[in-house]
Amino acid sequence: MGRPKKSVKMPRLRVRKKPIQRVRGMHDVLPPEMNYWNYLEEIVREVVSVFSFQKIETPILEQTELFQRGTGESTDIVQKEMFSFVDKGGNNLSLRPEGTPGIVRAYTENGLHVLPQPVKLYYIGPMFRRERPQSGRQREFHQLNIEVLGNAKPVLDAEVIFIAWKILEKLGLSKFEIQVNSVGCRLCRGQYKEMLVDFLSSNKQRLCVDCKRRLKNNPLRVLDCKNRRCQDVINDAPQIIDYLCEECHDHFKDVLEYLDESKIPYNLNSKLVRGLDYYTKTAFEIWPVEGGEASSQNSLGGGGRYDDLVEILGGRETPAVGMALGIERVIDILKKEEGKGKDKLITVPKSDVMLIQLGDMARKRALGLINLLIDNKISVIECLQKDSIRSQLKSASGAGVKCALILGQKEVLDKSILIRDMESGIQEVLSQDNIISELKKRLRK
Ligand code: AMP
Repeated sequence: MGRPKKSVKMPRLRVRKKPIQRVRGMHDVLPPEMNYWNYLEEIVREVVSVFSFQKIETPILEQTELFQRGTGESTDIVQKEMFSFVDKGGNNLSLRPEGTPGIVRAYTENGLHVLPQPVKLYYIGPMFRRERPQSGRQREFHQLNIEVLGNAKPVLDAEVIFIAWKILEKLGLSKFEIQVNSVGCRLCRGQYKEMLVDFLSSNKQRLCVDCKRRLKNNPLRVLDCKNRRCQDVINDAPQIIDYLCEECHDHFKDVLEYLDESKIPYNLNSKLVRGLDYYTKTAFEIWPVEGGEASSQNSLGGGGRYDDLVEILGGRETPAVGMALGIERVIDILKKEEGKGKDKLITVPKSDVMLIQLGDMARKRALGLINLLIDNKISVIECLQKDSIRSQLKSASGAGVKCALILGQKEVLDKSILIRDMESGIQEVLSQDNIISELKKRLRK
């Protein structure tokens, strides 16, 4: 029995439902925007490969304890901002709010400490923090991170800062400022903290509500409070730089000398402490400059040394240094710095050949021919969904290909194909057996 010829109207499957929207604070990155991401990733790869960094991926989901111990119980991230849940097996899990604890876990768990040190790693991926969404602040955002584990030399701190600076500079950005400080080590920071707490306690009534709380949990964080009244207090507070032990002092001096020698512009900022507990010695941030003024609001990136973190997370004593750049924020200023780098944005990948197919028989042969071209390293594009030769030729000239291969029913039957030079419009008939040699000749491959 033959199939019914008449087209039958399909019944609607379901009642139209309300579309589901994305989760608050999360964003879709659509294809035109992706050009910026690709451009940035290309520059990242170019710069980090000079320093022999290797790419690593770690899971987005980790045990909550990793961040409680690593990022630190007293930080805003762990206290207020993690997406944590108990899974069906009763495990306490969290979406990673930052990358470094996961890398440190992977370093110890996979025995990377037995490799020649330092181990230099980079990764680009999503981070999750339940902050109040606003301009430049998302609940899912992406970071480029670099980490150097297994060496304490100050030149590596300078290398990490250099990489952050070079990436931004290569992107054509100029409106940013690098802020650098040393937060000392366990020894000297302890002593400094006592002095700071004494000073802040005697000025407690002038501090904001948050800083009164910070004074108890994380007094160093008072130093980067944005509140005007707190700023007045902080201006007179003791500075950590005056309390550094000899080793931390010498290390910091060396880092600054490397930066000076490399002509990397920076600003010494004695109030910079960063939000995380684990930093030791060098700490730095990259601030955007707007209206001539650098501001910590919407910082582009930051990092520093974390010599104790591997041990805190159960590994061996391993000095380390790293940094993170916020991809969305970097792209935001890339767009604002009018025109810079735009000419370099890759829009459509350039191809040499377009395969044009006419009729059912040709369309069925098309994927086989595309397979042959791919296997012979000829970059080809197609528009299999299109029917007319006019619209396919229009796509071919829009894509800027050199040649079009045109396959119709006749060509399928006699195993030939038309080759059209897109510039001159001249067409020739070829045997399908000669496609590759002819294309290689024309494309000089
Ligand atoms: P942090 O780990 O807090 O030092 O963050 C490093 C960088 O990640 C920042 O300088 C920002 O560029 C970016 N970043 C941090 N939090 C967010 C957020 N909520 N939304 C967008 N970017 C962020």
